[in-house]
Amino acid sequence: MIDVTSSALSVLDELGIDPNDVEWQDLALCHGLDLKRFYESYETSERTAKLTDQICLSCPVMKECLAAGIENNEWGVWGGVYLSSGRPDDAKNQHKTPEIKKQMREKIESTGQSADSY
Ligand code: SF4
Repeated sequence: MIDVTSSALSVLDELGIDPNDVEWQDLALCHGLDLKRFYESYETSERTAKLTDQICLSCPVMKECLAAGIENNEWGVWGGVYLSSGRPDDAKNQHKTPEIKKQMREKIESTGQSADSY
């Protein structure tokens, strides 16, 4: 079973879905979106990057996504953070305002995970 937020558990409960039958990717808000948004478009368009940040901030599995990106040494946006080899990429995250960074840290910390990587 995934360790999701209480709001995600509430949604699963309303839908009659057993959390044991769900992987975190099943709850990804980006499911079905153009993946370029999380890679090359994020790098080249500040507007796309900022909109993508908002999508991730609204995603119920932001914590799980970031953890997977770090653990698997991924590239691109994971949990709202652009990673290069599993590490936050300062240059590709430089468009983020202090307020957005604060919101991301708070969302991660509210799930009990350290937000040191933000
Ligand atoms: S945090 Fe962002 S990239 Fe990760 S699953 Fe959610 S919407 Fe997709």
